[in-house]
Amino acid sequence: MRLLLVEDERKVADFIARGLRAERFAVDVAVDGLSGWEMAANVDYDLIILDLMLPGLSGTELLRRLRRRGGNAAVLVLTARDATSDKIENFEAGADDYLTKPFAFAELVVRVKALLRRPPASRSHTLRVADLEMDRLTQQVRRAGKRIDLTAKEYALLEYLAAHPGRVLTRTMIIEHVWDESFEGLTNIVDVYVRHLRTKVDEPHERKLIRTVRGAGYCLTDEEPA
Ligand code: CA
Repeated sequence: MRLLLVEDERKVADFIARGLRAERFAVDVAVDGLSGWEMAANVDYDLIILDLMLPGLSGTELLRRLRRRGGNAAVLVLTARDATSDKIENFEAGADDYLTKPFAFAELVVRVKALLRRPPASRSHTLRVADLEMDRLTQQVRRAGKRIDLTAKEYALLEYLAAHPGRVLTRTMIIEHVWDESFEGLTNIVDVYVRHLRTKVDEPHERKLIRTVRGAGYCLTDEEPA
């Protein structure tokens, strides 16, 4: 696992890098925002530990650039800024975790390990299946570049399908993920919503992405039917 640490306080950077290397991670260190960005843009890191107040380029701006570029690195923000507004701003910019200084090294290590256990796909804002694009932050949906307006439930259903491309999801699985415990309706609610989605997502296009798998459920896929 290759890690990048972007931290301008040399003492802190040395301390963290030494500790993480002792945990057998490969650790590169950048001591300002711009060199951090250059390294992050050129190396496929598994995880980036990011200070916010940095010379050259702020940690938040580095994070925004990184997420615009669509890399898979998990980002853990490590900062003295403990205001809720800072946390919200950085999570919205694409951070996966946020730890405030002063911190216990042992906590940093367990957070790093927890982040590295997550599948990389869950770190990206954008879900893509063929020419369908979903931005999980803004909840905007586009197909072939054209915006599609969905209701909250339609969005939730499409997101669930798009997060598992090629996998058959049963009506029960869909109900459990998209509706909540208070739902007492019939499972054919799924069919109703899939119909709505087809009208909006598939009907205007030649290539159909939503498949019915008879006797099983539904599947979103960009593979041609056999
Ligand atoms: Ca700093």
